[in-house]
Amino acid sequence: MSANCLCGSSLPYVSCCEIVHQDARAALSAEALMRSRYTAFALQLIDFLYDTFHPSTRRFQDKKAIAQWSRENHWQGLEILRATENTVEFKAHYIDQQGNPAVHHEKSRFQKTQGTWYYVDGKELQ
Ligand SMILES: [Zn+2]
Repeated sequence: MSANCLCGSSLPYVSCCEIVHQDARAALSAEALMRSRYTAFALQLIDFLYDTFHPSTRRFQDKKAIAQWSRENHWQGLEILRATENTVEFKAHYIDQQGNPAVHHEKSRFQKTQGTWYYVDGKELQ
């Protein structure tokens, strides 16, 4: 893939989120992990999405539900609104199952455990 990465960076996928998709330890910040998780939704990388949940919240996750959410929507772009060391507020634009444009606006929390960033949970915002 030579086009710019789906996460909206100016880098090609191979120099951006693909590195993190191959090894989540390559995400050097919460924002980098957030971007790679968005791209994973767009590319339907379900195992990556599951594995990057923090171990404390992973058991509540359902791979089938993640796969369905990933597959049913057409991901159009990511907008990072605010990022701190361990939170990221973003808008993910997508076309829903009915073909309508929609926005998922969320403030996510991340935690670094043994050198690796994980997604803990998120609060949906309006
Ligand atoms: Zn990227």
